[in-house]
Amino acid sequence: MSVVLVVNSGSSSLKYQLIDMSAERTLASGLIERIGDAQGQGVITHKAGDEKVVREAAVANHDAAFDEMLRNFAEHGPSLDEFPPVAVGHRVVQGGRRFFGPAVVTDKVEQDIEELIPLAPLHNGPNLAGIQGAKHAFGSIPHVAVFDTAFHSTLSDASSLYAIDRAVAEEYRIRRYGAHGTSHKFVAEATAEYLERPIEELKTIVLHVGNGASACAVDGGRSVETSMGMTPLEGLVMGTRSGDIDPAALFHLHRKAGYDIAMLDDLLNRRSGLLGLTGTNDLRDVIARIEAGDEVAETGLEVYVHRLRHYLGSYLVALGGVDVIAWTAGVGENSPEVRARTLRGMEWLGIEIDEARNSERGEGIRVISTDASKVKVLIVPTNEELEIARQTLEATGITA
Ligand code: AMP
Repeated sequence: MSVVLVVNSGSSSLKYQLIDMSAERTLASGLIERIGDAQGQGVITHKAGDEKVVREAAVANHDAAFDEMLRNFAEHGPSLDEFPPVAVGHRVVQGGRRFFGPAVVTDKVEQDIEELIPLAPLHNGPNLAGIQGAKHAFGSIPHVAVFDTAFHSTLSDASSLYAIDRAVAEEYRIRRYGAHGTSHKFVAEATAEYLERPIEELKTIVLHVGNGASACAVDGGRSVETSMGMTPLEGLVMGTRSGDIDPAALFHLHRKAGYDIAMLDDLLNRRSGLLGLTGTNDLRDVIARIEAGDEVAETGLEVYVHRLRHYLGSYLVALGGVDVIAWTAGVGENSPEVRARTLRGMEWLGIEIDEARNSERGEGIRVISTDASKVKVLIVPTNEELEIARQTLEATGITA
């Protein structure tokens, strides 16, 4: 039995999962929040089996967060002596044009991740801090970096170059890298397996719609179009991110209202999307308000769905047809309203939703299209941690 520890390290949080890869079963998971909090108010959650513990403690930095994680395993199990990880898999957001697959961490890989920080300032730095903290805690086993961008390294120049001065774009590495690749890959593969079809034969559109959201056109297992761009800001309307916007709107805000870079970043990344449109980033609240007759919420959801339909239409053309549409993540897996509104009126394309199947709550992969629908529409719960663990084993050559 091979056990893999998966680590997702953000600027002020550390998420982890311990997975038994022989059964692909989660043994424990946890979350350490408010790392580096000025008031020393870290929040630590650990789940093992049916037991969940939450405690508070000061967590000064990522090294201290790993100490807290080790304490969780020691006090609440499972014991890492009994289930010693054979490798640690790390989520890294930006792999640039250097990493087209998982990479066993070496000094050179760490340097490369550091060198890519300017392309993902909010993510690669904390990801690297996580790798370094984990190396202190688990020095003798391999660490593997799994990149969100890697699955999209198959995008053509046509779909990944921006139409700006080529020399500027090259010097500053401005192009579309995409994101959520680990999830899109997992979902596309799980879809093919569920349908018992070779992935090489399938044209799939994956709609990963959660607080962050992106669409991906997958042709024969390869990403050919995706909606996130140089950073995870482009594309769909998200919980707090604007998605597509005319960049000249930013020039206007700068000139007319004195917005500087930090203010624009804050506006587009943290105060836009559903939150900007309706005042709340949680779709459940938006739906509840619509049901109570709130027109602002209704318009917000219409903008949200409009963008989804825009990308869906574009990807139907890019793929030259589609076999499967797969919904995943918080909204995609749980919101019949968003799924129904997005796919309405597409019977002429062979896309036909079964209302009862779409409304039914359920677990695992399930079909929500009618039996007569030419295009299968599925809900496919994503599992990025499991995908990272799989790629970690693949990169190290260790068997499950
Ligand atoms: P994620 O980022 O994938 O965890 O998705 C989180 C988002 O999913 C939340 O902000 C909600 O907007 C949405 N969500 C979760 N559960 C539901 C639900 N039952 N109905 C509608 N939206 C949901």
